[in-house]
Amino acid sequence: MFPAVFIGHGSPMNAIEDNIYTRGWQQIADFIPRPTAILSISAHWVTQGTKVLVEEDPKIIYDFYGFPQELYDVTYKVKCSTQLAEQTRSLVGATTAKDGEWGIDHGTWSVLKIMYPKADIPVVQMSIDNQASPQELFEIGNKIKSLRENNVLILGSGNVVHNLREIDFNMDGGFDWAYSFDNFVKDKILKGNYQDILNYQLLGNIAKYSIPTTEHFNPLLYILGATDRNDKVHIYNNSCMGGSLSMTSYVFDC
Ligand code: ZN
Repeated sequence: MFPAVFIGHGSPMNAIEDNIYTRGWQQIADFIPRPTAILSISAHWVTQGTKVLVEEDPKIIYDFYGFPQELYDVTYKVKCSTQLAEQTRSLVGATTAKDGEWGIDHGTWSVLKIMYPKADIPVVQMSIDNQASPQELFEIGNKIKSLRENNVLILGSGNVVHNLREIDFNMDGGFDWAYSFDNFVKDKILKGNYQDILNYQLLGNIAKYSIPTTEHFNPLLYILGATDRNDKVHIYNNSCMGGSLSMTSYVFDC
């Protein structure tokens, strides 16, 4: 089965930087086989119910503010796979979004620009359902797992720890609570104990600080749902930065 991947994406600036995180993403792209298409679940597309972007030539979206012009000049002219989009839609029972409603957002292109700079692999985006519980998100991930049998890369793009109110870009590493939460998730993933991850709220303040809003965490739950019992776990960019961001990324393959 094709690997499933969760990437901690951090700042959009990674799209135009060469740093330890972007090198980790390149290593992932080198490690896994070349996919025939990519289904991306980005933290930056949250909708009521699940939507799948079906558009032959999707536009890319600059869904951030106050960054250098260089970042707004980035292009990633990628094709959509309407076949994969329709397949995903029928597996999940999702509705369709047209390009006018969305496009390829930076949660997707800032990562793919580094992993597949030629933009020559078709990309489909699926939204995060803002009404689904952690368990339900996991189950949606399980519904799309079979795509892995067709050389499709299911990509979750978010951050395990993401608290912009607490961020301190002058700080190396993370706050204690950020490490605690990141390590909790890592430990449970390595043990295959996903139920504890779905019940993360039981951790109380550590979880509240790490995930004050859930959109960056939720892509991981889809990816966990799409894993297989036989998957091996590979960890990349195992670190926190700016105090309140975890860049830890996971590859599941068997
Ligand atoms: Zn983000």
